[in-house]
Amino acid sequence: MDKDLSALEIQEVTGVGPRRAKLFANVGIRTIKDSLSYLPSRYEDRSCIRKICDIGAGRLETVRGKITSSVIKGPKRFSLFEIAVNDGTGIVRGKWFNQPFMKKNFKVGQEVVLSGFVKVNPHFRGLEIDNPEYEFVSEDDSFIHTNRVVPVYGLTDGISQKQFRKIMFGILTDYLDDVEDPLPEEIMKRQNLPPLRDSIRAVHFPQDNALLDALNMGTSVYQRRLVFDELFLFELGMAVMRKKSGRKKGIAFKCGGIMRKELFHKIPFELTGAQKRVISDILRDMERPHPMHRLLQGDVGCGKTVVALAAMLTAVECGYQTALMAPTEILAEQHYLSINGLIRNLGLTAELIKGGPKNSCLERVASGQIKIVVGTHALIQEGVSFRNLGLAVIDEQHKFGVMQRAHLRKKGIDPDVLVMTATPIPRSLALTLYGDLDYSVIDELPPGRKAVITRIFKPSRKEQIYTLLADEIRRGRQVYVVYPVIEESDRAGLKSAVEGREAFQKIFPEFSVGLLHGRMNSAEKESVIGSFRKGRIDILVTTTVIEVGVDVPNATIMLIVHAERFGLSQLHQLRGRVGRGAERSYCLLIADGHRAGEAGLRLEKMVQCSDGFRIAEEDLAIRGPGEFFGTRQAGMPDLKVADIIKNAVLLESARKEAFQLIDVSPELEEFPLLRQSLEVFWKGKADLFKTG
Ligand code: ADP
Ligand code: MG
Repeated sequence: MDKDLSALEIQEVTGVGPRRAKLFANVGIRTIKDSLSYLPSRYEDRSCIRKICDIGAGRLETVRGKITSSVIKGPKRFSLFEIAVNDGTGIVRGKWFNQPFMKKNFKVGQEVVLSGFVKVNPHFRGLEIDNPEYEFVSEDDSFIHTNRVVPVYGLTDGISQKQFRKIMFGILTDYLDDVEDPLPEEIMKRQNLPPLRDSIRAVHFPQDNALLDALNMGTSVYQRRLVFDELFLFELGMAVMRKKSGRKKGIAFKCGGIMRKELFHKIPFELTGAQKRVISDILRDMERPHPMHRLLQGDVGCGKTVVALAAMLTAVECGYQTALMAPTEILAEQHYLSINGLIRNLGLTAELIKGGPKNSCLERVASGQIKIVVGTHALIQEGVSFRNLGLAVIDEQHKFGVMQRAHLRKKGIDPDVLVMTATPIPRSLALTLYGDLDYSVIDELPPGRKAVITRIFKPSRKEQIYTLLADEIRRGRQVYVVYPVIEESDRAGLKSAVEGREAFQKIFPEFSVGLLHGRMNSAEKESVIGSFRKGRIDILVTTTVIEVGVDVPNATIMLIVHAERFGLSQLHQLRGRVGRGAERSYCLLIADGHRAGEAGLRLEKMVQCSDGFRIAEEDLAIRGPGEFFGTRQAGMPDLKVADIIKNAVLLESARKEAFQLIDVSPELEEFPLLRQSLEVFWKGKADLFKTG
């Protein structure tokens, strides 16, 4: 490669100084390579130059003629700059308001192309265009802004379409020849893709006007090529990681499974078919002499914890340590309690590690005396070490970044890893996004679960809700009331939760009302959630701190205040806190006023649908993948041109090609260019080719 365009900063480009470089950075362009993949959001047809006598008002038109006058009119503060253009068949005026400096650009006698929305001047009946796009006719006739299909880019304030377009044109002129095509010839042929340079040129400055519709719909072969490339690099990275871990030596856990069987005796229920199937998937992985990397998806309440515990006991029986990491202290605490309840008569105890000063058990963990550790991300702190961590389990993994997953893994020597999530995504997507993982799903809820009845209420119907609450509590049941405090720094939200507690205590003086939020210290949190678990608190007023994992089967009402402020998956997670016992449960959504718009749509979906997989699909469709995965997928490369939903079919092809290629060329030795592109694409996210 002559020039590495991914190393050339955008400021190298003529016309881009420090100020503009900042504006470019705002839209994610730092290097010249970035700019080439910054695709127009749409295209306008300015290709057809028409005679002025033929143009009409109300249309986007492009004309070409000589400037016959160039004047500034009106008072200084409301000045109007106007030119008249004559092509021999008629005259059209171009107008700019409050831009007197424009005058210096236009000289009488110059030939110019104007493009814009034509209107009739109400006073003079002549034709005119406000703020037209313009381009002077130059010798070589290579127009940028008119006389062609022109790109329109999504931009931030501070730079105009015209300025940006001109810079892009310059970049293509100066650097396109340096672009080398990394895609193997064979794949290009098989996928019917055009060469890279042609694609970049066509997508920014299409020469073939017939492409307009396809470009605007995003279906042209050239866009397809660029989208494919991105998805291909993405999947190639997955394939490399997968191949690497598949060849790695890991622990082959072989034991009689006595502890596991003891556990199954101890639990007061029969495992579901799906749980049994998934456990055998996991055991098969664990027995193989390579590290397990398995993702377990299952809707809220399907019983993932006992599956994890079965795997953990297998590791322990084989003489290894095991760790379970959960995203919140409350959840870690709960796992710790319930696991200890289940393993006590196996002669085992689990220890808890969480943030804060004292973790007296660290030494015994390091020495291997403690076999089972439960904790928050405090587990991946430096001070924590294991003697022989054999299995790491990550609960609610969507709350962790890829890096954190890696950190926990590094606490052992290529331990087996099981990650679990209750924010399911469609299977094809899961395969793709977690392509470096194996995948199991629990698609069955324990028998006897009744669907949670979900209802939307206006705030004015509170009385009705209170009656329902009182009835349930008198029957011995418990209630969650959730306020929308998403960030712990959200003071206003926190205040409303605190006030909410007081209000509920006033309304129900005979019941005990508790408060739980993220700002409390862990001892306070523990004591509140402990009282709720023991039934000493009837109504727990809280925030999204209880979003994941909390399991109190006696709670039958989930009341969500300002439900319109929550995302769909989040509402579903919250609803999952009830309906965990045999009793009928309710999810009551209080939503302000108008049910219109996106929020209304979300709430309706909650009423209609109780299947977490379908909810996730809907959520994905409503919010789009960017926001759906958002920060949760920190650690994944950004997709700039591809959309994993819209381009799902292409994604599948890219995946196939990628995995095939890595199968025959695991290190891409024969494809140095591709290997280089791949490393650039995954830079800072994963060291694909580093050994170890
Ligand atoms: P999640 O998958 O959301 O983590 P949990 O593991 O917390 O779900 O399980 C939810 C509840 O269901 C727990 O109270 C658990 O004891 C119970 N449970 C798990 N499996 C079964 C089963 N097969 N039959 C009945 N109850 C079960
Ligand atoms: Mg769970």
